[in-house]
Amino acid sequence: MYLRKQLFFAVLIATQLACVAKQRNVVLITLDTTRADHIGCYGYQYDTSPRIDQLAEEGVRFDFAIAQSSETPISCASQLTGTYPYRHKLRAMHGFSMTSLDDSVPTLAEVFSSHEYVTAAFISAFPASSRYGLERGFAIFDESFLRQHPPSIHEDGTVATGRSQRSADETTSAVLEWLQADPGAPFFLWVHLFDPHDTHLLPPARYLEKRMEGRQVEDQHDYLRAVYDAEISYADMHVGIIIDELDRLGLRESTVLAVTSDHGEGLGDHNWWKHSLLYQEQIRVPLILQGPGIPAGQVITPVVEHVDLMPTLLQLAKIDHSTPVGVQGQSLTGLLSGDVTLDRRTTAYSEVHSFFTLSESPGKRDIGVIYSIIQDRWKLLHFPRRPEYDKLFDLHKDPGELHNLLDQNREIAERLLGELVRREAIDIQLPDPEEVTEEDLELLRSLGYVE
Ligand SMILES: [Zn+2]
Repeated sequence: MYLRKQLFFAVLIATQLACVAKQRNVVLITLDTTRADHIGCYGYQYDTSPRIDQLAEEGVRFDFAIAQSSETPISCASQLTGTYPYRHKLRAMHGFSMTSLDDSVPTLAEVFSSHEYVTAAFISAFPASSRYGLERGFAIFDESFLRQHPPSIHEDGTVATGRSQRSADETTSAVLEWLQADPGAPFFLWVHLFDPHDTHLLPPARYLEKRMEGRQVEDQHDYLRAVYDAEISYADMHVGIIIDELDRLGLRESTVLAVTSDHGEGLGDHNWWKHSLLYQEQIRVPLILQGPGIPAGQVITPVVEHVDLMPTLLQLAKIDHSTPVGVQGQSLTGLLSGDVTLDRRTTAYSEVHSFFTLSESPGKRDIGVIYSIIQDRWKLLHFPRRPEYDKLFDLHKDPGELHNLLDQNREIAERLLGELVRREAIDIQLPDPEEVTEEDLELLRSLGYVE
């Protein structure tokens, strides 16, 4: 009896040790406002992202990854819950009642927490803050800069936007300090870097000058694109600093890394400079996975979505049995193993409910509510309040979305519209923007959302 009991405990301890040994850290790095096609390994003409490119060589690059929204909080909520906005209910950035994550939707951080993971997030801007409920499940949610003083100007001319955003070096310093203090393992770490978002906060002048060297800058537009690329490089450098620290601490072998962005940016395409629309330049995002269990140097071409991150990361951490009911994403690990027989969806969904950004154009407020559905080669942009603006593109023949083929392909458009209806995604009853608090307004103004 005694021996059997001993044996029982020996097996129990061995099992527990095996579990501990198998547990993996997960690090999700989200670069704000970063278009896939401005990243080196996605074919960009300039060398903007050496560290992300290197990570892609060591891991897997998803060539056709779609964000669920082109506005930060909504996109981040889909990454962190594995659900589409019409399920997680955080659908607007400002001025609506739909501005917080639904309490009943489980978050990735909550699942990791329930598995004894140490959880921490270091964010860099108000749109990724607890204002939107994105902190749920994180034991540490570092947004201390939001309580700082109003914007001020550094000696080198860069602006500290203080309460609305902080630069990658500040965020990364906080991350490194946390890692060096040995948070315990396993951990789930979310790092959000904001630099490419706007020109309110620029990299240090010397860095910027160096990155702009050799760039043909003939007008203000060239200048803005060059600055944008320099900001991506600056964020990329900080991705590298975090990776190097994981290496130095001996954590790389046991850490799954995911690098993506929350959405892209117009940069003048379709005559639009910002995000908040749903053309490919706004919703096609970089997505790279690297770490234990992930093959090196693969490029995956079928369409994938941000909602797929949660089940994928849980599976790579080997706790996929706890993927919550209601998660709408599909794990990408089957694609990693090259299983082409997988019954994967071929549809991608995105939405945006925005009035402020587009209110600069008088009489165009109605086009701030947009839905996008991509199915195989086809993409429908649907404007429920102004259906005459609807557009259909053939992404294979026309990746730049320049030729609206809706009139010639009514049946296809109807099929895609039917997909939106089937999902019960369209909210035509959306009220006009409600009162916005003066504090929210001040923060959004400092980020360029409100004039
Ligand atoms: Zn964003």
